[in-house]
Amino acid sequence: MRWRCSHDGTMNNKLLISIIIFIIFTIILISGCIHEPKPNPPITQPKSDLNQLQKPDNEQPKNKEKLETCKDLCGDGICQEIVCQAIGCPCAETEESCPQDCAVEENIPLLDNMLQDCPTQEEISRFEHDFNISSDEAFVEYSCANGINPNYPSGKLDPRLTLYQMLRLMNALEFSKPLPWTDKSLYDWFKGNIKGIYINNSSEYSFCCDPERVINLKGEVVGASYDANWVMGAGMAYLIVLAIHEARHIDVGHTCGSNDNNLDELGAWAIQYYLEYWLVNYLPSNYQTQNEKENLASDAEYILHTRFCNTN
Ligand SMILES: [Zn+2]
Repeated sequence: MRWRCSHDGTMNNKLLISIIIFIIFTIILISGCIHEPKPNPPITQPKSDLNQLQKPDNEQPKNKEKLETCKDLCGDGICQEIVCQAIGCPCAETEESCPQDCAVEENIPLLDNMLQDCPTQEEISRFEHDFNISSDEAFVEYSCANGINPNYPSGKLDPRLTLYQMLRLMNALEFSKPLPWTDKSLYDWFKGNIKGIYINNSSEYSFCCDPERVINLKGEVVGASYDANWVMGAGMAYLIVLAIHEARHIDVGHTCGSNDNNLDELGAWAIQYYLEYWLVNYLPSNYQTQNEKENLASDAEYILHTRFCNTN
């Protein structure tokens, strides 16, 4: 009985289980049928989704992403025009996005450009041959990188290198009209008139001529930081003008106190005035900027109005 009972019970259970399985299967089948049509909508929807994703992808989000992942190297002096695309690569730079690195270099005028360069060994030998360059202070060991002797402290230039640069630029000045006081080039006239340049750190002013045919340039103006530029307030142009003024004193002194009588005498002030006028008006246009020319022109005017006792 127990067995039967249990058997009957088993039979009943089996029936129940079968019914439950059938119901579950039916539910699964039905739910499967309900879910079956679903794959259709996603086929049409992704199209618009794709469009929505692609549009902004080509616009801002991509740039934003770039800004976050590329290295901003603007200001390092190198224009990163072609860059790699991985994370950590430099950001691409253009003249608009990074003008400080990508600006065209045509703006650097020739004379300022020369001052960022070093004299060649050939030039140094020529200058040392043409002029006896000396000083009352010992020179620090000579070296030159980008127009500067790195062995000198910042803010102070090598006075000897400064004179080499002065002679280099003097030699590069090719005027379209002869100078008023000589048929020679400026460098040749200077070389012919003096035999040496003495850097005098104990004198308050520059003068000529001690020893004979040697100009003394006061230490303060030879190797000042502004000598690294053609014209910047002061500048290399004014060192050249000063050297020319002193070299003229080998021929003539001042004729009206510390001034001169007039331009026609072609004294030291006259040739200083004329040299500045020639720098402004008779050099090729790529030699200097408009600002540099205006600075020189205003100094020439000032000399004309203050250094001659008789204006004619
Ligand atoms: Zn003088």
